[in-house]
Amino acid sequence: MDIVKNYINGDFHNPSNNEWINNYNPSDGKVYGKIPNSNKKDVQKAHKAAKSAFQKWSKTSLEERSRIMIKIAEGIDANLDRLAKAESKDNGKPLWLAKSVDIPRASSNFRFFGNAITQFASESHENVGDNTINYTLRQPIGVVGCISPWNLPLYLFTWKIAPAIAAGNCVVAKPSEITPMTAYCLGEIINDAGLPKGVLNIVHGTGESAGQAIIEHPDIKAISFTGGTATGAHIAKITAPMFKKLSLELGGKNPNIIFDDCDYDDMLTTTVRSSFANQGQICLCGSRIFIEDTIYEQFKTDFVERVKELKVGHPSESDTKVGALVSKPHLEKVMQYIDIAKEENGTILCGGNQVVLKNYENGYYLEPTVIEVPTDECRVNKEEIFGPVVTIMPFTKENEVLTMANKSDYGLSATLWTNNLKRAIKMTSQLQVGIVWVNTWMMRDLRTPFGGIKTSGIGREGGFEALRFFTEPKNVCIKY
Ligand code: NAD
Repeated sequence: MDIVKNYINGDFHNPSNNEWINNYNPSDGKVYGKIPNSNKKDVQKAHKAAKSAFQKWSKTSLEERSRIMIKIAEGIDANLDRLAKAESKDNGKPLWLAKSVDIPRASSNFRFFGNAITQFASESHENVGDNTINYTLRQPIGVVGCISPWNLPLYLFTWKIAPAIAAGNCVVAKPSEITPMTAYCLGEIINDAGLPKGVLNIVHGTGESAGQAIIEHPDIKAISFTGGTATGAHIAKITAPMFKKLSLELGGKNPNIIFDDCDYDDMLTTTVRSSFANQGQICLCGSRIFIEDTIYEQFKTDFVERVKELKVGHPSESDTKVGALVSKPHLEKVMQYIDIAKEENGTILCGGNQVVLKNYENGYYLEPTVIEVPTDECRVNKEEIFGPVVTIMPFTKENEVLTMANKSDYGLSATLWTNNLKRAIKMTSQLQVGIVWVNTWMMRDLRTPFGGIKTSGIGREGGFEALRFFTEPKNVCIKY
């Protein structure tokens, strides 16, 4: 049994109530570990440690903060194999994916924000007529809360805590109870890098207990949350009367719009990836695919052929393209949507079935599934499925596809495939989303603002946006 413990004040602790939650391996459906079912008391303990570390950490020089953060990044790099194996086992994602994307990105997060903080400047405004000069201080907030989901566990966990710490805050963080393992491993790396005790505290447990205690805590003054839209709405409701600063990165149902003048081969390869990478469990996956009618039949044939070639397999096998879904309830939810698609007269062009792997019969495997939908108004086209399921349908006119793309309640990202510059500029400005990719997908530059509109969230993270979120601006006006 792999036992996960809370990381508080630089040490590992059992939960105060000594209650534990089972941790499942999605590849075989077996319990392989236990994690703390932490409650208010544990969060209180973590907060106390963070609060007492704050005075010193917030006054630590930028160079010193940066030096420690880069050491953490190096510690992650040095543990690449161990962390990638832990991530793959906990989440079900292919090992090669964890090794090439998730863990390197966690290290980049620390390296990037460790460097960014030394370049973070504040504004000043002189008014010579009035003999005044204004300057804006950007001060750390104090103790902040970071709560992350299960799909990109260490990647998104560090995406929040790295800027929070860089900006001089102390953190109470909670990873998803479904994928706690790499956040647990991070504790040791953090100690080895010499981050002072209490600057980062990691409490494990459910959203209802540990998560709720973080958002309700009156002295955790800012919450950075990534997860589902319903949870985000709940967090907004609880924290609003306390006037907490809030950054919410929520769900998506992203359009992938394909015009006949695109680079077809490049589009096809990338569209397979943007549909099924990480078992389709990335908030940025393009799950609603709209294809110009002139190439619709060709695309349908080629796309289905390519999707059928994707190997569903055990996460540790190097040729596995689609691993296990994260949990049994999630697999069941995704499969329900395939039933809904059939009821709504959708045509399953490929996939649609659970996969039973020899020796791993109880793992949570599902065939990558392509559904041809008769209308964009159906539920599978409107609701976030968050699994290896995409819909396809044709369009004839630019305005028509723009209307369908924007009809969604979500507004996270969109992908556009065209070589027509005028059209690209017009559509990118009119798509109601926070991120648009043209002729590519999920190319990330950590300096850029990241986030969505509508029910995909509020606020932006990434680059200086994240450092702005994790600081309070204070304007000082001096008359000379
Ligand atoms: P979730 O909302 O169920 O859980 C996310 C985190 O919130 C977990 O750590 C959970 O324990 C915690 N939580 C749950 N209830 C809570 C409460 N009452 N108080 C405080 N914390 C609570 O989401 P999930 O199922 O883990 O993740 C999938 C969702 O995340 C999808 O909707 C996906 O689109 C979204 N997501 C968004 C982004 C983005 O950047 N916009 C990135 C990744 C995932």
